[in-house]
Amino acid sequence: MISVTVSILSFIYTFLIFIVFFSKKRLENKENKIYSYMLIASMIGISLDGISGILYLLNINVDSFLYLFLTKFIILFYVVWDLLMLSYIIIISYQNKSQKLNSILKINKILTIILSTLILILPIKIMKENGSAYPNGISIILMYIITVILVIAVVGILIKNFRNLKNKKYLPLFIYLLFGILMLIIQNVTGIILITSVDVFITFLMYFTIENPDLKMIEQLNIARDQAEKANHAKSDFLSSMSHEIRTPLNAIVGFSQALTEEDLPPQAKDEVKDIMMASETLLEIVNGILDISKIEANKLEIVNTEYNFNSILEELVSLTKARLGEKPLEFKYRFDPSIPPYLYGDKVRIKQIILNLLTNAVKYTKEGWISFEVNAIQKDGICRLIISVEDSGIGIKPESIDKLFTKFERLDIEKNNTIEGTGLGLAITKKLLDLMGGQVVVQSVYGQGSKFTVAIDQRIVTNPTTVVESTQVAIENIDLSTKKILVVDDNKINLKVAARLLSDYHCQIETLESGIECIDQIKAGNTYDLILMDDMMPKLSGVETFHQLQQIPGFSIPTIALTANAISGMKEKYLQEGFHDYLAKPIDKKDLYRVLVKFLVQK
Ligand code: ADP
Repeated sequence: MISVTVSILSFIYTFLIFIVFFSKKRLENKENKIYSYMLIASMIGISLDGISGILYLLNINVDSFLYLFLTKFIILFYVVWDLLMLSYIIIISYQNKSQKLNSILKINKILTIILSTLILILPIKIMKENGSAYPNGISIILMYIITVILVIAVVGILIKNFRNLKNKKYLPLFIYLLFGILMLIIQNVTGIILITSVDVFITFLMYFTIENPDLKMIEQLNIARDQAEKANHAKSDFLSSMSHEIRTPLNAIVGFSQALTEEDLPPQAKDEVKDIMMASETLLEIVNGILDISKIEANKLEIVNTEYNFNSILEELVSLTKARLGEKPLEFKYRFDPSIPPYLYGDKVRIKQIILNLLTNAVKYTKEGWISFEVNAIQKDGICRLIISVEDSGIGIKPESIDKLFTKFERLDIEKNNTIEGTGLGLAITKKLLDLMGGQVVVQSVYGQGSKFTVAIDQRIVTNPTTVVESTQVAIENIDLSTKKILVVDDNKINLKVAARLLSDYHCQIETLESGIECIDQIKAGNTYDLILMDDMMPKLSGVETFHQLQQIPGFSIPTIALTANAISGMKEKYLQEGFHDYLAKPIDKKDLYRVLVKFLVQK
């Protein structure tokens, strides 16, 4: 009676799993295929088991043909199920060795067919003892032999794959072994035969632990996602190193064209040089954009907070925007809340970058009319919420395009905008920077009438600035440095020429060296300079290492400025921490160079 009840219960849950498994979309792989065979075998096995139980309860003669027939097929089920289980274990154990796996599976398939035929052909009889009946005969003996061989094979595979046993896919097998032993004890003590129910239960368990199509789908999706992320990182790394490589030759183009604009050139040549300079500056902006987005995506972009003068940033933004307007018939209106605290704490470089992106876009995407730049402030508990809005009477954005605005490399209205330069990176960077700084951006736009971008960002108010807040605005004046001697160290000859050319405007004495080692030798030999410009990325001895060795030389006190093409935010602080007196990003900006020269050579 107990056996029959267990069989009926087993039939119910196997049937449910059967329906669920076969009604769902599955992955086409070996594991799934074998599992589906196990499930079909279990359905047949448990049905036969149930029927034979019912026949027994109905007192049908155990010697009848029907009963013998059922028993034979149940025994066939045991053998087939065990061989399928073996195939399953082979698959999960040798998944990576597909060549070997295929041949083992083939052998196993042939074995299954031969052994199943033998089981069906060989005789079977039913023994009756103490009121209970059990099957016997050559067929049954063969079944026991197969079972023993299978157990040995499974144990062998497990020993060979000892290291992988933590894999959860082996769990049903261990449960099977445990239940197998329990089942033998129960069978011996009570005479209740539960083999079919145990096999079916293990098939049922396997669905939840390993063969659940949903779990497998998720697993595959995770693998696909990991691969996509890896590919994306590789792409970001590539872009970042490419951008870095591009910056070095760009340094020469920007530097020489800047220098040439000041030469007495024929008007046409002067115009052309200006064009080269503008084109190279645009290229530099693009390269910087790519560097930024790849740094952000690799989670390598740090927000560097310092005390800064917000008013001087606003002044600079206004003058940059006016310069960008050029000949365009646009009215530029700006209004700043007078209550904005002069000193704030935050990442001034990134704040400036965000606002400049919005202002540049307003200029780019407005043919005529006006641009308005407004900053308001709400102050509370030492925090100043800056509400920055940039509005224009430009081409506007279609409502369906608003969502795509902040997607990288996405440019809208291509037909209309194809004459306007851009990469589609500006707003993506703006959004990501704001996310990093806890800010927000809102867009309102009417297509054909204009757009308004509003940014809200919190900055801490600084009441007593501790550091000297430098003005970012510099006007280059004529300074005479003819008595000063400057050393430039860079492994790249063209970079040395650019630096020398930019410095030559100040009539100073210039010396150039191509390595840190030579620089140390010169200083050790007693040569003195008023200023050293030191490239960081040099082979053998980097700029930082060279500088640290120079500091060890007794009496060394020459102001040393770090030069690097790795111009990301946070670099300046890094070099100042290393002990450098200041930092210049390559391509060297004329105004930046002027600021450094004045700071270290004039104000002494
Ligand atoms: P880019 O300007 O380099 O193409 P952005 O990321 O700054 O890249 O802008 C993405 C797109 O959003 C632009 O190509 C443009 O179609 C649209 N856009 C941005 N700002 C404005 C604006 N003020 N007016 C109209 N369209 C704009």
